[in-house]
Amino acid sequence: MSAMSTMGRGARGEPVRDVQTRLAVLGYVLEPEEHGEFGASTEDAVRAFQQRRRLRVDGLVGVDTWNELVEAGFTMGDRALYLRYPFLRGDDVRALQAHLNLLGFDAGREDGIFGERTGRAVLEFQRNVGMSGDGIAGRTTIHALRRLRPVGPGPGRATVREAEALRRMSGGLRGAVIAVDAGHGPGDPGAAGPGGVTEARASYLLAASLVAELRSREADPFLLRAGDANPPEGERASQANRLGAALLVSFHLNSHDDPRAFGASTYYYGTGDWSSGPGQRLADLILDRLTNDLGLADLRSHATSTPLLRETRMPAVEIEPCFLTNPDEEARLGQELFRRQVASAVADGIERFFGLPGADPTPHGTASASSATASRE
Ligand SMILES: [Zn+2]
Repeated sequence: MSAMSTMGRGARGEPVRDVQTRLAVLGYVLEPEEHGEFGASTEDAVRAFQQRRRLRVDGLVGVDTWNELVEAGFTMGDRALYLRYPFLRGDDVRALQAHLNLLGFDAGREDGIFGERTGRAVLEFQRNVGMSGDGIAGRTTIHALRRLRPVGPGPGRATVREAEALRRMSGGLRGAVIAVDAGHGPGDPGAAGPGGVTEARASYLLAASLVAELRSREADPFLLRAGDANPPEGERASQANRLGAALLVSFHLNSHDDPRAFGASTYYYGTGDWSSGPGQRLADLILDRLTNDLGLADLRSHATSTPLLRETRMPAVEIEPCFLTNPDEEARLGQELFRRQVASAVADGIERFFGLPGADPTPHGTASASSATASRE
């Protein structure tokens, strides 16, 4: 179903029934008379599911929501989990990672993707309990995992490891490899302002400003897309992983039906159960500079699950500094001076994240307390 089209209110037929069955298995209640028809209760259930899984909440079933529905349907023990390409994904993988991490085996981020680190953790676990290590989490291995009590409810290994990586980043910006992404591209221009500026164009100009700013601070930034290119998010993520970026920032612009909506928000990787402490800290620090230095309204940082944030291995943040649908903010985005100010504020946030001597390590943002503890312990 990879070439599926987006499904919403009024759709009917077998694909709708498939979505409804999956929702029902996950415990969402649907009106029986809507069977095979995408009605109000189906839309409500889709919205609730999207909310819970930190997806964009639009009540439509597109590729991301469909993939998430499929992944949510797997429970640990349903199938054998092992390293293969493309990587296995699902809630069973996420549960496996959480179990391994809690037992002290380093399965990496609890992102529901069975990658090499998870494979190594399975092998290590098998050897530890005296099984022949084949790296395949099948029935026997999962049974053995379930029998063992976790050492405690404390932070899993992934959280600790992210914090360790953060502590190593104390050398400042000089020479730091930083991935800079501009959301969208031709063919997928994103939101558009009343003056005709597209999100693809505005985010590209912001990204280019940030690259120049970071270069002037002796960092080593690279852009994840050319002005006329639109690689899929997964591809952007693997490029950043391949190049060993220390962190990633991606620009988007917000949009709203009400042209008066304005302000800045940032996003870091998180699901219902797990979120990236360093990602949140970076998101808070950048938002803090955008709101305090530029006076942009503070719309907070949020946990979200996009392919880019999920599939990157470094702290990663999406930034929406303005609403493109607000005529004043659209006009400001057209000014080079404003874009340079945004770039400078973002670079300041990154610099604080790297812990420059003398920099205030505590963001003033609203959601700062938890991130500060999560990333410094
Ligand atoms: Zn966007």
